[in-house]
Amino acid sequence: MVLKINNITKNFGGISALTDVSFSIKEGEIYGLIGPNGAGKTTMFNMITNMFPPTSGEITFLDEKITGFKPHKITNKGICRTFQNIRLFSQMTVLENVLVGGHTRSKSGVFSGVLRTKGQRAEEERLRVTAKEILELVGLSEFEDAIAENLAYGQQRRLEIARALASDPKLLLLDEPAAGMNDTETADLYHLIKKVQERGITTLLIEHDMPLVMRLCDRITVLNFGKKLAEGTPEEIQNNQAVIEAYLGSE
Ligand code: ATP
Repeated sequence: MVLKINNITKNFGGISALTDVSFSIKEGEIYGLIGPNGAGKTTMFNMITNMFPPTSGEITFLDEKITGFKPHKITNKGICRTFQNIRLFSQMTVLENVLVGGHTRSKSGVFSGVLRTKGQRAEEERLRVTAKEILELVGLSEFEDAIAENLAYGQQRRLEIARALASDPKLLLLDEPAAGMNDTETADLYHLIKKVQERGITTLLIEHDMPLVMRLCDRITVLNFGKKLAEGTPEEIQNNQAVIEAYLGSE
């Protein structure tokens, strides 16, 4: 297992955002986390990346307990996320945005300023080559010198994924990547996430676009009011009466 979520509970004051939720993700899976608004999906991402500590429970990544690790340490271990709202460096170029992602895990410590040593220059060049490969993968090579905020919406979303990929994650957390996308952009996103899977990267996906979720995911957990309602393959989830009543029937 790449990720094990064990009995995670998160209370915010009187609100119980997550109650005793457990699930595990296998290497190379595309795993869906779905449920109505306020079900606790983003809170689960915040638990995995330790933006906030869980009230109780623990999380294991590649057999190591990561509960309590600082967020940057979790990134260094190989978990990277995107956010529900686009968070690009809007005035920087497309390539620079991806380079920033690469530097989050680079050991060189170089980003701006003078590259003093041969080793630093070599590392910078390696990151640049990797960043260009990733732009190719997400279909943004021709825009590498464009200013990020001038990209179309779907392209900005793909750039976010590119920046996350630049940190060389083993586990990618995507928070509603298809939100606001048109049908063509969603189709491109489908192919991109499949290509990410072919590279051996495991994905945990929060998404409200059910046709996309059902086509993409190997397995799915459904949350409702912070509790796990069901877990299974897309087919099992689509035929689960409790899930239909709580969520799918209203989509
Ligand atoms: P959506 O699909 O709308 O994004 P979600 O499933 O991601 O919803 P969360 O954002 O995880 O749901 O929210 C779960 C519950 O926890 C909600 O009731 C929310 O108001 C509450 N919550 C989340 N973060 C905080 C916080 N920092 N402080 C207080 N309450 C919070």
